[in-house]
Amino acid sequence: MRAILAFAAVILVLVSPTSLMAQDEEEYDPFAPRWSFAIHGGAGTIERANMTPEQDAAYRAALQQALDAGAKILAEGGSAMDAVIAAITLMEDDPKFNAGKGAVFTWEGANELDAALMDGRDRSAGAVTGVKTVKNPILLAREVMKDGRHVFLSGAGAEEFASDKGLELVDPEYFATEPRRRSLERMKAQQLSAIDVDVKFGTVGAVALDLEGNMVAGTSTGGLTGKRWGRIGDVPVIGAGTYADNRDCAVSATGQGEYFIRAAVGHSICQGLRYSWRKMLDDAQASVPLDEDGNPTFIVHASEMWLEESDVQAVADAVMADVKDLGGTGGVIVVSPFGPAVFSFNTPGMYRGRATSAGVSEVGIYGDE
Ligand code: ASP
Repeated sequence: MRAILAFAAVILVLVSPTSLMAQDEEEYDPFAPRWSFAIHGGAGTIERANMTPEQDAAYRAALQQALDAGAKILAEGGSAMDAVIAAITLMEDDPKFNAGKGAVFTWEGANELDAALMDGRDRSAGAVTGVKTVKNPILLAREVMKDGRHVFLSGAGAEEFASDKGLELVDPEYFATEPRRRSLERMKAQQLSAIDVDVKFGTVGAVALDLEGNMVAGTSTGGLTGKRWGRIGDVPVIGAGTYADNRDCAVSATGQGEYFIRAAVGHSICQGLRYSWRKMLDDAQASVPLDEDGNPTFIVHASEMWLEESDVQAVADAVMADVKDLGGTGGVIVVSPFGPAVFSFNTPGMYRGRATSAGVSEVGIYGDE
C-alpha cells in the first residue's frame, strides 16, 4: 500500500510541482506526530527607530518566556489547550501588553477586557467581553467553553459567572497602568484616533497544534484606547479574531478589530486552507491515468497530500490583503496540520514567536526579521 502511495506521490510531483511537497519526505512525514506553536503580542507601527535597546530586549524576553512556556507543554506531549492558556496568562499578567494588566482605557477611563478560546476538536468555544474584574479573562473564556451552555458572555453576567466558577477577581484598578492612562489623556487632548495614540495593538494571542493533532486558538485584549458605547472588537468574536478547527487551522488576530470582524478573518483563513488542500487533492485525482475500462490506474490517498508552508502563507496573506483593502491594519498567527506556524501582518512590525517539534524557536518584532 505504501509503495502504491509513494508511486502516486511521485507522479503527483510531476503533475503539480509547486504545490505538493512541503518539504522533502525526510523532513515531512505525514504520519509523524508533530507539534507547532505561535504567539503574538500585537502588531502595529513597531519600528527600530521607535524602540530603545532596553525596550527591544524586554519585549523579546517576554515573548520568549511565553513561547517557551507553551512549547515545553507541547514537547512533553501536553495539550494544545494547556499550551495556549500557559502563554496567554503570562502575557495577560505582563503590563507591556494590552491584555489583562496593562490593558488600554475606554473613553470613560475604565479597562474593559475581551477574550476568546476555541478548541479545534469539536469547535467548542468560549468568549467574554466587557469584563472589569477578572484577573485572567482567558481563564474565564475557558470556563465558558467548558460549561458549554453558552459561547459568548458579556459584562456583569460574565463577572457573575466568573465568581461562580471561583476565578480570581481583582479590583479594577489592578489593570490600570500610567502609560495607558496617558495615552487616553493624549488622545482626548490632541483629538487623536486609537491608532495614532497607540501606534501598536498590544493584544495577545496563541495558537497550537499538539502531538495528537488537535489545534486551539486563544486571544485576549483590552481593545482599543478610547473605545466607547460598549464597543466589542474582533477578539471575542468567534470566526473573526479567534478561530480553530482541527480540519484546517487555528488563528489568532490583532489589529483594528472592526475590519477583522467584517472580513471574518479567522474563519476565512481556515476555509481558504481547506479549499486549497481540497483543490490539490481533486487536481491530483483528476490527473491519474485511466485504464482501458476507464478506471483510475492508482488511488491518490488524501494522506499523501499536504500544503507547503508557502501555501499556508499565501492563504493568510490573501485574507490580510482583504483586510487592508477594507482599510484595516494588523496581523495574524496561524497553525495548520502541515508544518510550522506562519505570521501575516500588514503593519511595520508584530510582536511574535514560533516554535516547532522540528527545533524552531524564534521571536521577532520588526517586519524585516
Ligand atoms: N483587535 C483588538 C480590538 O480591536 C485590538 C488589538 O489587536 O490590540 O479590540
